[in-house]
Amino acid sequence: MKQLKIILFLFLATSVSGYGQFKIPALPYSYNALEPTIDSTTMRIHHDFHHAAYAANLNKALEKYPELYKKDILELIQNINELPADIQTAVRNNGGGFYNHSFFWSIMAPAGTAPMTPKLEKILIDNFGSVDAFKAEFEKAAVGRFGSGWAWLIKESTGKLRIISTPNQDNSLMQKAEVKGKPVLTIDVWEHAYYLKYQNKRVAYVKAFWNVVNWTEVERLIGQ
Ligand code: MN
Repeated sequence: MKQLKIILFLFLATSVSGYGQFKIPALPYSYNALEPTIDSTTMRIHHDFHHAAYAANLNKALEKYPELYKKDILELIQNINELPADIQTAVRNNGGGFYNHSFFWSIMAPAGTAPMTPKLEKILIDNFGSVDAFKAEFEKAAVGRFGSGWAWLIKESTGKLRIISTPNQDNSLMQKAEVKGKPVLTIDVWEHAYYLKYQNKRVAYVKAFWNVVNWTEVERLIGQ
C-alpha cells in the first residue's frame, strides 16, 4: 500500500508539474507595480506571452532529448556547443530568451523601493568615473543596439564592470559571446518591451528605466 501511494504520488507529481520542463517564474511583483515607467499591459503581455513562449519553444526543442529537461538553464546556455547540433540554435534563442527575461524581472523593482546605496555609487564611480557617466554609457549601449537585443552591465572575471549589448536573445554567459561576464543589470530593448507605451521612442523608455532598477539586487550580484 505504501509503495502504491509512493508510485501514485510520483505519477501525480510528474503529470501535474510536467517534470523537468522549463517553466517561467512568476513575476516578483504585480503587473502594475512598475507603473508608470512600465505599464501593466506591457508587463502582462511580456511575461505571460513573450516570456512563456520562450519557455514553450525551449521545451519543444528539447523534446527529442528529454534528459536535458533536468539541466539548469544556466548549464544549458553556458554549454550550447556541447548540445546536439540540431538544437543549438533553438537553445541559443529560446534558452537565452528564457534566462534573459527571468533575469530582467529580477533586477527591477517598484520605484523607490531599492535605491542605490553609497557603497554601490562608489563601485560605479570606481569603474566608470561617475554615476552619470555609467548611466550615459549604459543608455548609449541600449539605444545603439540596432534591431532587437539587450544592454548589460556585466562583471568580468577580473572583477571589473563593463557595459555591453547583445543581439536577439544572446548574453554574456554564452560560449560564443564576444565579451564574457556575469550579468548584474540588463534592459530589454526589443520593441515588445516598450512599444505600447513609448512607441518608437526607445530613448524615453531607456531613460525612464532608471526609475525601476532594483539597485539592491544589482549590488548583491556585483558582490557575489
Ligand atoms: Mn522581451
